[in-house]
Amino acid sequence: MLTRRAFLKRCRDISLLMCGSTLLTRSLAEGFLHLAKDPPALAFIHAQNCMACTTSMMYGNDFDFIDFLSHVGRLELHPALSFRQGADYLTNLDRIAAEGDYLLVVEGSIPSRPKEACYLGAKPLYDVLAGYASRARMVIASGSCASHGGIPASAGNRTGALSLAAYLKEKKVEVPQLRIPGCPAHPDHLMGTIAYIAATGVAPPLVKDTQLNKEYYGELLHNRCSRFQHFSQDLFVEDFAKDKDNCLLKKGCRGPITASDCPMRRWNQRTSVCVESNTPCIGCMNPRWPFVSDLYLETADVEDLPWSEMKQKIKDRPKS
Ligand code: SF4
Ligand code: SF4
Repeated sequence: MLTRRAFLKRCRDISLLMCGSTLLTRSLAEGFLHLAKDPPALAFIHAQNCMACTTSMMYGNDFDFIDFLSHVGRLELHPALSFRQGADYLTNLDRIAAEGDYLLVVEGSIPSRPKEACYLGAKPLYDVLAGYASRARMVIASGSCASHGGIPASAGNRTGALSLAAYLKEKKVEVPQLRIPGCPAHPDHLMGTIAYIAATGVAPPLVKDTQLNKEYYGELLHNRCSRFQHFSQDLFVEDFAKDKDNCLLKKGCRGPITASDCPMRRWNQRTSVCVESNTPCIGCMNPRWPFVSDLYLETADVEDLPWSEMKQKIKDRPKS
């Protein structure tokens, strides 16, 4: 039995998770009370993925993922976390789809050529996913593979891997969609988005002309980076062992072209983030990730970066 105090604490935690402040605690409490009798059904489907997005949900943050799914929504199916597996999973997926009005979360890209690269039960995922998506209230692409194609769709793309949006377009399915990019997806980004939908019944405010939650992907990572002062003074890392505070731009950092709140939100129970760990941001939340150049670059390779675009973005950054 959830006490009133525990309930409000949970609402406060979710508000922090969603927008970094307790501002929404009261609205969330009212929203959850309204939805308490009928939380949204949640179903997960794994496409061509590596399981890192699920692993990130389980270990990447201090908010328990299964607890969250069980209380904020009604977790029906997850290929790795629910008891329903194999034939039971498929039977229940059909049941949920027949009932409709559920949130469908897809992890991984969808192989199209050959479509046999990934099966759901006895059929290629490519053939059956559209049917499940078309009956959902909303579909959420979790991780960069589902959001933009990711690693399976990078150079060579031997399986004709498609993002969820590209797949649904090919299949002519029109359904509200959201993208939670990241390799892996950040637990706060997925849970915060689901919490928003559960509490309000609608999608969160989006970045213009995208399916990206504005709260998380509304600003360039570079603008919030702890190394920004060093960037402003043209102090760049030359030697990783010595220049521990300088800007990583000339080591190939994609912070200036990647929109994400990673530096504020951080990872692993808010312990750290790539740029704080002396590692350039590789832009894993950028739609073009993993780019055509190497993930990690030496100074000599820096011209491989979309350099002119970076300069323009930096030039255009909002003046504060
Ligand atoms: S280029 Fe990278 S390391 Fe430098 S300030 Fe921007 S995000 Fe931070
Ligand atoms: S800092 Fe960059 S590479 Fe690291 S998680 Fe964020 S977007 Fe991905």
